[in-house]
Amino acid sequence: MYWEKDVETIDRKKLEEFQLVGLKNTLVKAGKSYYYDKIFKEKKINADSVKSLHDIQKIPFTTKDDLRENWPYGFIAVSKDELVRMHSSSGTTGRATVVFHTAADIAAWTDLLARSVYMAGLRKSDVFQNMMTYGLFTGGLGFHYAVEKIGALVIPAGAGNSKRQIQLMMDFATTAVHVIPSYALHLSTVFSDLHLDPRKDTKVRIAFVGAEPHTEKMRRKIEEIYGYKAFNSYGLSEMNGPGVAFECPCQDGMHIWEDNFLVEIINPRTLAPVADGEEGELVLTTLKREGMPLLRYRTKDLTRIIPEPCSCGRTHRRIERIKGRTDDMLILKGVNIFPMQIEKKLMEIPGVGTNFLIILERKEFNDSMMVKVEVNRELFSGELKQLEALRRKIVEELKSEILITPQIDLVEPDSIPKGEGKAVRVIDNRKD
Ligand code: AMP
Ligand code: ZN
Repeated sequence: MYWEKDVETIDRKKLEEFQLVGLKNTLVKAGKSYYYDKIFKEKKINADSVKSLHDIQKIPFTTKDDLRENWPYGFIAVSKDELVRMHSSSGTTGRATVVFHTAADIAAWTDLLARSVYMAGLRKSDVFQNMMTYGLFTGGLGFHYAVEKIGALVIPAGAGNSKRQIQLMMDFATTAVHVIPSYALHLSTVFSDLHLDPRKDTKVRIAFVGAEPHTEKMRRKIEEIYGYKAFNSYGLSEMNGPGVAFECPCQDGMHIWEDNFLVEIINPRTLAPVADGEEGELVLTTLKREGMPLLRYRTKDLTRIIPEPCSCGRTHRRIERIKGRTDDMLILKGVNIFPMQIEKKLMEIPGVGTNFLIILERKEFNDSMMVKVEVNRELFSGELKQLEALRRKIVEELKSEILITPQIDLVEPDSIPKGEGKAVRVIDNRKD
């Protein structure tokens, strides 16, 4: 039932002792990076500043912007020779936030994720099909090595190519999958097109679903269509990737692995800690990482701690399903997109007017993005051929930036309604 019983059911007092040691070690390690060295000197912080876990509040927060501004190597805390792998957050191109790992970091991550999938019921006898993108995104290689460590057979299918996914599932009697929830729903329509019923025609019994927010209702719908159990998997590339928090067989909140991460929930406006059990922004500190230790990293994800102990016997606390974000990041098909990226690209294209609006839709379980773009007056009264060329250029440029092909609708100047206050850039019509 447990991958590492001692660690998973550790007495909380002992866990907190380990966390304090981990935090002090992390301060020492982080101080070797360019960024934290500078911050610690400014704020006069060192490992001795922390006498209890509560003292973590003396340390400033770290944000995605800090990572971007110190790109690429400002956060590494070991010599470059020690690094063996790089990953980055999904979606963004160019200066994406990158994370570097030593061999020990990769081993620790693999172990954490093996612990997670074992907890959900994956065993050596399983055939596991990984339907996530392999490459810089952490959901591919991360799961791949963790499942190999358990000893199950891995099919590194990668993302997309729905008919092939179904073929692989049937040919090799896949019993477990890793899939983005919106893709699981989309794939079910391909089963229907092929006159197949996933409940009868496949042997899948477990799914790990994550990388994007989804409701309990959506999870139940996926479970109903496929006849398998779907476990929520949460992570972010800055904290390795998947394997930060994961559902146990109780499917009631995700155990967050507190031997590796120190957890805080803060009020995103005041930045003060919230009362136990209250909703706020999740802030995480790595306790074991060597290559790129991060202190008080603001995930921008909204959740709460479930204070009650879990009936599975694990003592690591649970967080609730992610409710949303405190910034304007969108996740479409598992890819992170900031409206700012779209704005920046659009404004570089001659002929584009001053306003735009992103509309997200879900049709037949398929998510898509439409961008209404105002064009400038000269172009609008010009030739149709020119407008079509502009539309194609915008599609191309945006695709290279956000990795998703948007539908572009060119509209008249000043036709997108402007409100009184902050411009509304996004309308999300996706419903379960
Ligand atoms: P990335 O760094 O590309 O792996 O993206 C990480 C972000 O994806 C997180 O900060 C969350 O906003 C989102 N995310 C990942 N897993 C989940 C999940 N299970 N539920 C909701 N959001 C998730
Ligand atoms: Zn549990």
